[in-house]
Amino acid sequence: VKIGVIKEIKNHEYRVALRPSGAEQLIADGHQVMVETGAGVGTSLSDEEYLAVGCTIGKDAAEVWAAADMIMKVKEPLKSEWPHMKKGQTVFTYFHLAADKELTDGCLATGAHCFAYETLEHEGRLPLLEPMSEVAGRLSIQAGAKYLEKPAGGVGQLLGGVPGVAPAEVVVIGGGVVGTNAARMAAGLGANVTILDVNADRMRYLDEILPANCTTLFSNPMSVREKLQQADLVVGAILVPGAAAPKLIKREHLALMKTGSVIADVAVDQGGCCETTRPTTHENPTFIVDGVVHYCVANMPGAVPRTSTFALTNVTLPYARTLARLGAKDSILQNPALASAANCVGGKLTCQPVAQAFGMEF
Ligand code: NAD
Repeated sequence: VKIGVIKEIKNHEYRVALRPSGAEQLIADGHQVMVETGAGVGTSLSDEEYLAVGCTIGKDAAEVWAAADMIMKVKEPLKSEWPHMKKGQTVFTYFHLAADKELTDGCLATGAHCFAYETLEHEGRLPLLEPMSEVAGRLSIQAGAKYLEKPAGGVGQLLGGVPGVAPAEVVVIGGGVVGTNAARMAAGLGANVTILDVNADRMRYLDEILPANCTTLFSNPMSVREKLQQADLVVGAILVPGAAAPKLIKREHLALMKTGSVIADVAVDQGGCCETTRPTTHENPTFIVDGVVHYCVANMPGAVPRTSTFALTNVTLPYARTLARLGAKDSILQNPALASAANCVGGKLTCQPVAQAFGMEF
């Protein structure tokens, strides 16, 4: 199979879908790999590193799209990329079709087989989304620590305190992948951490695995209000699958919070769990409402493309190898995880949640 790796063109997207180590394995499997020139530069991977494992380098996107039976990407194809997609070609990337009817129609019209990272399910989990939640959770504490500094707009407090000075209070709302990774980082820096969740089994588990400076607390409007009063840094990490995040932090609650405290609302991509959240970018990551610094970057992993590329490609590669070995149709028949990733096959919609989102035929 001829596999093509495209350079991402979305604004400030620096990740790449395949590393030289993965290309080496695909080539050993008997495939050919063509990488668009410069595809890896955002992750500090040079064309030479791909050449060294036996890849060819395509001079531009058009050459790679045209040559490939199977395309590997990171972000959804942008409008300018749709004309390159062709009937019978497999495209393996994040699509997020349910959020975008025009993109869905555009992909269907090409007749390409679209396999989406975000819907790929294995044993009740979404393994191709998890590493990005791990990155965002860990990064939320680095960002939060920075914006608690005075020159960055914060109250001027060190997360871990120092001997004789109390550490900061970190409140993590939602104890899933993002929340657990945030809690672990904050605890490691010496903060006092409280994780709020509504799932008792999850809290039982967290109570066992997290260090002693992490406490779990059942989430309800009153416990959230009480914790907001004490918090120096709040991390919003809730997810209600298939729904917008509930607004647990209301505008009037900001008045309860300390001036110069920080909310890192990681759930911003689902609308955020704070009423005053609006999406921000890496160029302009924060804004202040009622004295509370809001950090609401919608694509947090983009700030650390090297870590994010490595984390993403570690988990996508095994599925890419199966997809290349079996082809689109047999992958769907033989591999339930890849079947759950199939969103469009030969111009037909094959993902129920996407069909439901638009009332389309399934
Ligand atoms: P997850 O499903 O692993 O965890 C969500 C947790 O929220 C669950 O434990 C659930 O019990 C809990 N929860 C639900 N309702 C709650 C409530 N009312 N109070 C307290 N807890 C509640 O999800 P995740 O992977 O940790 O993702 C969390 C959010 O972060 C999602 O919205 C996800 O899209 C987002 N995210 C954002 C970025 C970014 O760059 N901004 C990156 C990755 C993930």
